[in-house]
Amino acid sequence: MKDPNCLFCKIVECEVPSEKVYEDATTYAFKDINPKAKVHVLVVPRKHYANVAELAAADPGLLAHMVKVAQRIADREYDGAYRLIFNTGEEAGQSVFHVHAHVLTGEPLEE
Ligand code: C5P
Repeated sequence: MKDPNCLFCKIVECEVPSEKVYEDATTYAFKDINPKAKVHVLVVPRKHYANVAELAAADPGLLAHMVKVAQRIADREYDGAYRLIFNTGEEAGQSVFHVHAHVLTGEPLEE
């Protein structure tokens, strides 16, 4: 399902460029353009869901798979240690309304 006005739908379809780090049949992961850690990757489902609550309700298996993808990136980058963030709602800092997991890793992170 694709939303023609959605930036991350366009990134998943390679209509907008990104630095891909991983992809499979259901997910796509790329480097955040404004990194907040040494390694800052966004993991997104190919299918459009506005936020993590919508995804969890519709397809919990896909949400679990996104966590596995994050784990795999952190295993490669930093011995499996990582921070996973889903900003949900504008007031919480969500600016792109296609669910994405921020994976922060690659260095010690402040609390
Ligand atoms: O959680 P939030 O919705 O604010 O996160 C959106 C993220 O998408 C930001 O960290 C921003 O840097 C990133 N972004 C990106 N490539 C774009 C546009 C936004 O990596 N072309």
